[in-house]
Amino acid sequence: MKWIDSHAHLDDRAYEKDLAVVIARCTEADLGVMTIGASMRSSREAVRLASRYRRMWATVGVHPHNAKHVDAGTVHELRALAGNERVVGIGEIGLDYYRDLSPRDVQRTAFRQQLELAQDVELPVCLHNRESTDDLLAILRSVSATHRGVIHSFLGDIALATRFLELGFHLGVGGPITFPKNGPLRDAVRRIPLDRILLETDCPYLTPVPYRGRRNEPAYVQYVAEEIARLKGISIDAVAEQTLTTTKRLFGIEDGG
Ligand SMILES: [Zn+2]
Repeated sequence: MKWIDSHAHLDDRAYEKDLAVVIARCTEADLGVMTIGASMRSSREAVRLASRYRRMWATVGVHPHNAKHVDAGTVHELRALAGNERVVGIGEIGLDYYRDLSPRDVQRTAFRQQLELAQDVELPVCLHNRESTDDLLAILRSVSATHRGVIHSFLGDIALATRFLELGFHLGVGGPITFPKNGPLRDAVRRIPLDRILLETDCPYLTPVPYRGRRNEPAYVQYVAEEIARLKGISIDAVAEQTLTTTKRLFGIEDGG
């Protein structure tokens, strides 16, 4: 395994017709994939996929958009899924005050419950944060003093990056690093230590240039790595190698060759 996409949604309907082909392109690129749960349905599906493919791992959790569907049974089932050997994290969980698809107090409760679950089962978290940083940080601090995980699809500047890095988090960098308007993000990535960055696609969303506007897939992580390499003045191989090492260590992933 040469590199890993730390955030993909391979259970998405976008891959209904050709998932096997998409995965074949990962194999060809020597690429591992973490497929991320966003609802109970997708969490179950992520575990099923990760159990089927050798270089695939899963996280389970309910995205803030779906927080309104969290009930008493949800955390119970997530706990059971988290016991599967292919599950390496809890996520994606967090807050989204941009789209507000679930009421904010409901989002906060669901986030807190799943953070506590992650503490209990001793798994790192995969966090979603959109226009909700202050509440996100307040809840993180109230649940635990130590933090292990990734702020996925980090889109902020160096000041925001520093706040998360100081808490112990890693930052997931994906397709938006290639978008022309994201100068402050590029400046941040230039300055963030490489060993605190994870590569991701968030596919099928956030497709990098040059495929922007089309469906995203894990193999396009190379365009993200290419941009990080350019910003840091290092080789793509160096980016691939370090982000793979970091992701394996953070999520306890063991690659059997
Ligand atoms: Zn995602």
